[in-house]
Amino acid sequence: MCYNIVMVCHLIEEAGKGTLDWQTIKETVVVDENAHLADSDKFDVSIGACKVCGQKYIVCFREFNSAKFEDFYWNFWIPIREQEIAAFKQTEMTYPLMAAIVGNTPHICRGDKKTVYWCAQGNPLASTIFSPPYMVDYPDVS
Ligand SMILES: [Zn+2]
Repeated sequence: MCYNIVMVCHLIEEAGKGTLDWQTIKETVVVDENAHLADSDKFDVSIGACKVCGQKYIVCFREFNSAKFEDFYWNFWIPIREQEIAAFKQTEMTYPLMAAIVGNTPHICRGDKKTVYWCAQGNPLASTIFSPPYMVDYPDVS
């Protein structure tokens, strides 16, 4: 699956230049709270729109917990055409599907180093980032 891009949004241009910060994109892409396709504290997928130009994005948050109990936080904004949204909403949201989308589709990414950047080729770490959660409890260290 590969979504076509409408390369008009200034956020994409700024991400490409490395001048976009997390606060700005969070405030500029308004999430439709009625359009959550996944909604958990570690995996959240919704549809958002740039409040400047209207470009639609798949907005995804992922908390990945490694086997060494390290937490990694990722945010993805994947441009999507208006006419693709209806079909996307009908799709069951799974880790493998998001891995395929994030791995193969150009998008704006906020990764582990807290910087926001344009991921032109898709993210090569996608299959790791969206691997199933570890079925272990965190140790109680209190
Ligand atoms: Zn825009």
